[in-house]
Amino acid sequence: MTRALILGGTGNANALAAALLRAKIDAIYSYAGRTQIPLPHALPTRIGGFGGAQGLADFIREADITHVVDATHPFAAEMSRNAVEACAAAGVPLLALERAPWTRARGDRWIEVSDIAAAVAALPEAPARVFLAIGRQHIAPFAAKPQHAYTLRFVDAPDDTLPLPGAELIVSRGPFTREGDLALMRDRRIEWVVARNAGGDGARAKIDAARKLSLPVIMIARPELGERPRVESVDAVLDWLGHDARLGA
Ligand code: NAP
Repeated sequence: MTRALILGGTGNANALAAALLRAKIDAIYSYAGRTQIPLPHALPTRIGGFGGAQGLADFIREADITHVVDATHPFAAEMSRNAVEACAAAGVPLLALERAPWTRARGDRWIEVSDIAAAVAALPEAPARVFLAIGRQHIAPFAAKPQHAYTLRFVDAPDDTLPLPGAELIVSRGPFTREGDLALMRDRRIEWVVARNAGGDGARAKIDAARKLSLPVIMIARPELGERPRVESVDAVLDWLGHDARLGA
């Protein structure tokens, strides 16, 4: 009997949750609990960390999980590494559902860097207006370049003081549109964009808008996760789980 665990927190994971429900596949959905109001879906849900790879392996055994789908964000590297280790320890198969990274299109002015520290270094020394379109847990290193006027965009208003005094904060979950992000960048006279290569459609509006405005984008590459089975579509996950993707659709 199949019983899947979805490591979620992404639009992809929620689309998978809906498909599993339609296909009547038994599954549990796991959120880290980062956002105050996670997007709703109809699968049984648990919230919060497992306690490392060991904790996840214990959960897999105790909840009789037969398959794990890692549908976390491509930058949720710790969770993804833990999933590899825990599934090996518990002896259950793991599949990653991960959208392909964005690739450079004509007109893009990308400066590709490997991590946050390199992104900070790639910003100019002269004061500039910067759209820092990255998660709130990654903004602190930019305090090393306090001369810039930063615009931030978070899903939730932060509980604590921002490590970037003077930064302008937009609280919005999206979805974002190219037109909306064009207006944002024009209104705020943005000169530089810092983004992570998330891939997919949900976050690409800022990349399309930056191309239209010929703005330089400091594009942070995905963390290296090593070899693991990976697919890009919900249907491929259903096939892997041994069900017809069209069942109940
Ligand atoms: P991370 O750094 O890889 O994970 C840190 C720890 O958070 C993990 O070791 C785990 O704690 C817990 N965790 C992460 N995802 C979890 C999940 N789905 N269920 C239960 N525990 C989870 O992850 P992150 O970058 O902070 O992302 C956290 C969540 O936000 C993920 O679910 C991700 O899909 C979602 N998200 C992230 C981003 C992003 O930009 N990184 C963007 C959109 C959505 P334990 O070790 O205690 O198990």
